[in-house]
Amino acid sequence: MKKQAISLAVAATVGMGTVIGGFAIQTEAASISSLKEQQNKIQSQRSDVHSNIKESTEKLSEIKNQQTNVKNEIQSLDKEISETTKQIEEKTAKIATTKDEITKLQAKIEELKDRIEKRNILLKERVRSYQENGLGINYLDVLLGSTSFSDFIERASAVATFMQADQDILKQHEADKNELEATQLQVKKELASLEKMVAELESMKKQLNAERAEKDQLMAQLVQQEEEEHSHMMDLKEQEKLLAIQEAAIQKAIKQEQERQAKAAAAAAAAKSRTTQSSTIASSGNAPKVSSGGGSGSAPNVSSGVWTQPATGYVSSGFGYRSAGRHDGVDIANGASVPILAAADGVVIRAYYSTTYGNCIFLSHSINGQVYTTVYAHMSSLAVGSGATVKKGQKIGTMGNTGRSRGQHLHFELHKGPWTPDKRNAINPVGIVPLP
Ligand SMILES: [Zn+2]
Repeated sequence: MKKQAISLAVAATVGMGTVIGGFAIQTEAASISSLKEQQNKIQSQRSDVHSNIKESTEKLSEIKNQQTNVKNEIQSLDKEISETTKQIEEKTAKIATTKDEITKLQAKIEELKDRIEKRNILLKERVRSYQENGLGINYLDVLLGSTSFSDFIERASAVATFMQADQDILKQHEADKNELEATQLQVKKELASLEKMVAELESMKKQLNAERAEKDQLMAQLVQQEEEEHSHMMDLKEQEKLLAIQEAAIQKAIKQEQERQAKAAAAAAAAKSRTTQSSTIASSGNAPKVSSGGGSGSAPNVSSGVWTQPATGYVSSGFGYRSAGRHDGVDIANGASVPILAAADGVVIRAYYSTTYGNCIFLSHSINGQVYTTVYAHMSSLAVGSGATVKKGQKIGTMGNTGRSRGQHLHFELHKGPWTPDKRNAINPVGIVPLP
């Protein structure tokens, strides 16, 4: 009986729909513990996101290290390639001079061959005439011109000396020729070895260039990985911000609830001294104010319950699985530029542009100690900013087609509890929030 009296007093003092039947205080205590439980959940989600950010940061620094290694490898490959190229150039120049040398040697050999041939002919002629006439014509003339025997002997020995000299010259020519041919052979061998070296260097250079191309490709991959990791980290930071804001909102709700309870306790204490009626009074549980809404057709009428329809139009996509994957909300489409309304009393926890949600608003609602979060995405413009307190049915923006959206529509999400990156709290708003 006393509890019922307290509940009446609380309902009268606070004027809110949290008190139902005769269990006012217990319900309120449960509200705070429920809020704290939700705060704990957010904190654990935040710590998950934190460790993801840490992991991402580590991955990024690892990618950076790999990039440095590949850069160093590319640098040393470049050095090897330029050294090899230099060697090829040197060897190619040496091949040119060697070929030149071979040509010069060849010319000398030809010259000597020519001389040997001429001398050979001359000698053969002399030998033939010597055989025909006993002596070569020239030598015979010399001998016939002798005036005495001693002169003859002298002349004969001179002839023999000349013949010997002819043969010596011939032998010398032959020796020179042989030496030149040996030199030429040696130089040709050198040329062959030089050409082999150049071929080896060329294939080495080809291999180095292939390695270099591979490293370039690896580098490009690492740069791409870095970019991906960067954008991933951006997403994580976006999540972290939302979670932090929600945690702050819940903390605020806890404080408000504590203040409300303190007031209720004071009122209950005051009521204790009075004798009140003992009949059971149940609260409606809903805010009493009813607005007629826009009425122009562009905005839906504001419902009398806790929730109201966020936009006019038709449901183009419902909650749940669809071909493109899980849909965590309901899409309300409308060809006309229509206002988007707050689905319930709440606080704007975030109003910003997201690459996926486009212009979007996150509202936090505390309804009977339960936190709900609503999301309104793809709006063309926003009418309220972060931190603002909004009333059920208040215009918060205009329907649009921003972010990852195809066609003008409102993507509306309802979360029982805070919004989380994995959207585990998303529920089907059908039967809770009035929809077209
Ligand atoms: Zn949607």
